[in-house]
Amino acid sequence: MLEIERIFTCRRCGFCCHGETTVSLDENDQRQMVQCLNLHREQVKSKYWRVTGTTVQMQTVDGYCIFYDQGCLVHAGRPWRCRQWPLHPSILDDELNFHIIAESCPGIRAEIGYEEFCRILRRIMTDMEKISC
Ligand code: SF4
Ligand code: SF4
Repeated sequence: MLEIERIFTCRRCGFCCHGETTVSLDENDQRQMVQCLNLHREQVKSKYWRVTGTTVQMQTVDGYCIFYDQGCLVHAGRPWRCRQWPLHPSILDDELNFHIIAESCPGIRAEIGYEEFCRILRRIMTDMEKISC
């Protein structure tokens, strides 16, 4: 079992991709998504984005992000906020955040308890920092 699976396994419930609006995409997210979809920026913009002033979000279809179909169709090019969910660093700051996130995400293994969860999450985050250096 991978270390991450001790605290989280996605159940593909779609909750985090549900809603009439989505996370917003920063410049880097936009670049990565365009690259991942292998289309021109204007094509991606008209087909997949909702642009409101300077805010760029993904379009929604039937109450879900346009890329949701029993999973993320743009997984490798998804925005950083999507990558971060549900192992959000705020969990380490406050146990309440842990419970709030665990209630929203059935993939969180809350049964292992807050202390143990944080211990593993810290280790995973440290390893990720080392990889990104
Ligand atoms: S809410 Fe959690 S379990 Fe459900 S799709 Fe999102 S990450 Fe996966
Ligand atoms: S980009 Fe992917 S992970 Fe993010 S909301 Fe859309 S379908 Fe979900």
